[in-house]
Amino acid sequence: MQTQKLEIKKHVAEALADDNLRKAVYNATASTSASRINTTESIQYWEELRNKTHKIKKDVIENLDKYLELFEKNCEANGIKIHWAVDGDEAKQIILDIAKKNNVKTIVKSKSLTTEEIHLNELLIENKIDTVETDLGEYIVQLNNQVPSHLIAPALHLSRNDIGKLFTEKLKTPFTNVPEELLLVARKKLREKFLTAEMSISGVNFAFAENGTFCVVENEANAHLSLTLPKIHVALMGIEKFLPSLNELPYLLKLLAPSATGQKSSTYVNFIGGPSNKKYGEGPEEVHIILLDNGRSKILADPKLRETLYCIRCGACLNVCPVYQQIGGHAYNWVYMGPIGITLIPQYLSELEGKDAPFLSSLCGACGDVCPVKIKLPEHILELRKKVVEKDKSKLLEKLIIKTWAYVSTKPKLYRFFGWSVKNVQNIIPNEFMKIPGYYKKRSFPGIDKKGFRQQFYELNDPKNK
Ligand code: SF4
Repeated sequence: MQTQKLEIKKHVAEALADDNLRKAVYNATASTSASRINTTESIQYWEELRNKTHKIKKDVIENLDKYLELFEKNCEANGIKIHWAVDGDEAKQIILDIAKKNNVKTIVKSKSLTTEEIHLNELLIENKIDTVETDLGEYIVQLNNQVPSHLIAPALHLSRNDIGKLFTEKLKTPFTNVPEELLLVARKKLREKFLTAEMSISGVNFAFAENGTFCVVENEANAHLSLTLPKIHVALMGIEKFLPSLNELPYLLKLLAPSATGQKSSTYVNFIGGPSNKKYGEGPEEVHIILLDNGRSKILADPKLRETLYCIRCGACLNVCPVYQQIGGHAYNWVYMGPIGITLIPQYLSELEGKDAPFLSSLCGACGDVCPVKIKLPEHILELRKKVVEKDKSKLLEKLIIKTWAYVSTKPKLYRFFGWSVKNVQNIIPNEFMKIPGYYKKRSFPGIDKKGFRQQFYELNDPKNK
């Protein structure tokens, strides 16, 4: 489990000072949101779909123990090896052991936020295993020694010029900023890796309890090559990624692509049902699934907040969030960002470690409006703010002010006296004193009208003044 200090405030300040970053993030999110609106508006039964998938995910999360057991039993019958990992360290050790046992030198990875969550690449590379991201966006951020800045579009913070310069520097290819040419450069490099890798690693979009299979949804066919060419495949999945059966998949797929990219459907849906049938000579000979907890059971234990486990990682809430649009994904300094990230950070870590996260929201409600599986994000953000404030000792002064204010508000005479005092002393207090820390540090304290609200109210309603 990650215990590093997130230093969110510092990263937010850095992001806000970077005009190029803000422009790149704003343009990309605005254009994806426009596509999402176009596509979802063309689907007449969109709201029914959202309600239906909310119910499906609710059933899964409420009955997770049952689905996990069924999935394990069916996977084993299919020849898939199941491993359980309590946290990221255990999951990483399992993957490293599989790689070492099979003398693996090269691993190809298809996009997986769960592997980012446990910082898998660092460990594999430390152990001298060449580990290559094959999703184009992930490949770009890996070359740039960065982590993804968006759930769906990992390199969204970089411009075409940035990527052109990066390829020239790291891959020693002539500079170009033409997307098609950049794509061909990456494709050539990656094909060599696909052909030599002994092992592949992917995440899981949906796993089906009823028959012990899983699927990986993608647009580039890199996952398809990863899943079929190397001899060993390892899938790392959070324990919440289930559907009861294949019957529920069409509803989820119908929502996923429009919400994620504005496409009507994703280009490829890869199904994995076990090791290859040697007769046909295709696919991995060994398939492993690692079921990762890493804090999910803790979330499950909270009857209100467990709804955050319904997330299908479409990224729609990021694209409409006015805070994400200004700071991008790296400012959150964690794998999940935007509205869903700020609900997960204090839950996966602790309220205190992730205490600044729930405050990265304007509470405008846009995230809740677009979430395809109807997670009540604004409600959960508020709930987490409450938990943080209850636990955070550094907020003692704030708590004292609010408590005093609550007390004064219920005592009319005291309230009037307080109003009168503030009005009358403001002119004799030096302005410097009014620059209280925090919000007013860089702003001047607004003066209070001499007449006050009550006096103005009475005057306005006095028949003599009408
Ligand atoms: S919370 Fe909802 S909108 Fe946000 S990524 Fe998850 S499914 Fe998508």
